[in-house]
Amino acid sequence: MDLRERFPGVTEADWQDWRWQLRHALRGEAELERLVALTPEERRGLALGGLRTAVTPYYAALMDPAHPACPVRRQAIPLEAEGLASPGDLRDPTGEEPHRPARAVVRKYPDRVLFLVTDTCPVYCRHCTRRRITGGEEGAFDRAAVEEGLAYVRAHPEVRDVIVSGGDPLVLSDDRLLPVLEGLRAIPHVRVLRLATRAPVVLPMRVTEALAAALRRLAPLFVVTHFNHPKELTAEARAACERLVDHGVPVESQAVLLRGLNSTARVLADLFETLLTWRVRPYYLHQGDLAAGTGHLRTPLGAGVAILRQLRGRVSGLAIPHLAVDLPDGSGKITLAPDYTGRGGLEGGAGGTWLVNHRGERVRYPDPPSADCRCEYDAVWYGADRG
Ligand code: SF4
Repeated sequence: MDLRERFPGVTEADWQDWRWQLRHALRGEAELERLVALTPEERRGLALGGLRTAVTPYYAALMDPAHPACPVRRQAIPLEAEGLASPGDLRDPTGEEPHRPARAVVRKYPDRVLFLVTDTCPVYCRHCTRRRITGGEEGAFDRAAVEEGLAYVRAHPEVRDVIVSGGDPLVLSDDRLLPVLEGLRAIPHVRVLRLATRAPVVLPMRVTEALAAALRRLAPLFVVTHFNHPKELTAEARAACERLVDHGVPVESQAVLLRGLNSTARVLADLFETLLTWRVRPYYLHQGDLAAGTGHLRTPLGAGVAILRQLRGRVSGLAIPHLAVDLPDGSGKITLAPDYTGRGGLEGGAGGTWLVNHRGERVRYPDPPSADCRCEYDAVWYGADRG
C-alpha cells in the first residue's frame, strides 16, 4: 500500500523528508477528522488537554479510518478514559524523580544511567510512561541541561552504560544529537551506549544512511526501538531497521503490553517473529506502568505471564522477550516468567526436580553428583589486576 495516497498532493520528496513529517504532524480534532471517522469517545479524549497529541502523517496513514479499535489509532488518539483515575495511578510511575542527580540524568542502578535530551516526540503514545515530561510540564532540555548531564557522567567512573532517551532523541537534528552522543563516547569509562527511539516505528525516514553511518562510528551503540503491533511492520519500518543493522548498529525492540491492542499470544508471536526476521531482537515486553491516564490500557499482571507460556514452544526462543515490570518505588525492573518447576521448585528434593514442558508434561531432572558450584580458576583469572 502506498501510505502517501491518504495525503493527496504531497510529493514523494516531502513524504520522505522527516522534517516535513514533523512539521505536518496531526495535532487536533480538525486535522484528525479529515483522516478518520472520530468516535465521541475520541472527540472527548482530544478535548481533555492532557498529554500532547501529535501524529506524523506516516503513522497516521496506518490508522484504520473506520475502526476505532485499530491498534495504531488507539496508540495515537486519546480516549476519554485518559481523564479517568485508576487505582494506584502515579505521576512518576517508575519513581524516577528521587533519582535525578542532574536534570538530564536518571540513575537507579550503580552502573547505568538514563540520559534525557528532549521532551518532545514525533508521536505522543497514549501509553507514555514519562508523560510528566513529554506532556511539556518541565520544558525543553537546553544545552545547559545536557552539559550538566555530561559533567555528571564524566565525574562518575562507575557509570558504564548510558541510555539516551527523552522524549525521542531522534526529533533532534544530527547536528544537535551527534555531539551529545560523541560527548558520551569520549568518556573512557562509558562502555555501552543505547539510543532509545520510536523513529523506526513512527518516523522511519529519520533513519537516514548518514545517521546510520554516524551511529556505527559510535560503537558499541545499540538502538532500542518500540514496536507494539504487526500493523506497524511496514516496508518503510523494515528499511529503517535494516539500514541500521546493515551498517553494523544492533537494533533491539521493546513492546508495551497494551490491553485490547496487543494483549494476545497471536498478535505478539506475529510481531516478535517478524521483527526477528528483520534482525531486530525482541528485548522486553513491558507490563504497563502505573502512569496516570493509562489505566484503561493496562493488563492484569498474570496476562503477560500467560502469553509467555503460550509463546514458549510456539516461536523461536530468540523471539521471546523478557517480561519486565518497572517497580513503582523507583527500585528498578524485575522480570516475570512462567514457573516450569514441579512440586518442590528448583531446590528439588531427593533425586531431582520435576520440570514441566510447554505441553504440560512432567519431565524429571536429576540432581548432579555434586552441588558445589565454586569455580576454582576464578582466583587465577580475577587475580589482583582484574578485580
Ligand atoms: S516515543 Fe516514548 S517518550 Fe515519546 S510518547 Fe512514545 S513512549 Fe513516550
